[in-house]
Amino acid sequence: GQNKILVSACLMGYQVRYNGSEKAQLATALARWQRERRLVIFCPELAAGLPTPRPPAEIVAADGDKVLQARGQIIEITGRNVTAHYQLGAWLALRAARENGCIAALLTDGSPTCGSRFIYNGSFSGQRRSGAGVAAALLRQHGIAVFADQQIAELTAWMEQRDENSM
Ligand code: SF4
Repeated sequence: GQNKILVSACLMGYQVRYNGSEKAQLATALARWQRERRLVIFCPELAAGLPTPRPPAEIVAADGDKVLQARGQIIEITGRNVTAHYQLGAWLALRAARENGCIAALLTDGSPTCGSRFIYNGSFSGQRRSGAGVAAALLRQHGIAVFADQQIAELTAWMEQRDENSM
């Protein structure tokens, strides 16, 4: 079948961000892929049973890779440790990607789950650090190419190349 792309649900305008706000990023490429039924729209945190709205959470002094190795934690601003929920969300994202034949993922940057270029540093003060969230890290570990929401042009070029190669 056609190469598919796992997409953060909140990029498609669904109200799933922790604060319930929309993140409208429906670029022309996304609309086209959606028409072609190539998008697998997924929210790992919702899949793991976290509610909307939910308190913001950050990875404390680590990144997604460390959390997957149980050497980092994800804490809500309330202090609740939600590491296990976020790890589960990552595994569910990987399963969805595999079951649907996704070779790439377009994920919302900055999220402790979906971030791929930056995340927040765990101090809940808006401080960024470079690194990936748990789902992005896990997808990468399993060979899926992860792109941030600001990289639609890069993803488009990458997919075109893959499509040509598979023709
Ligand atoms: Fe969006 Fe990912 Fe957060 Fe879900 S887990 S709201 S898809 S950034």
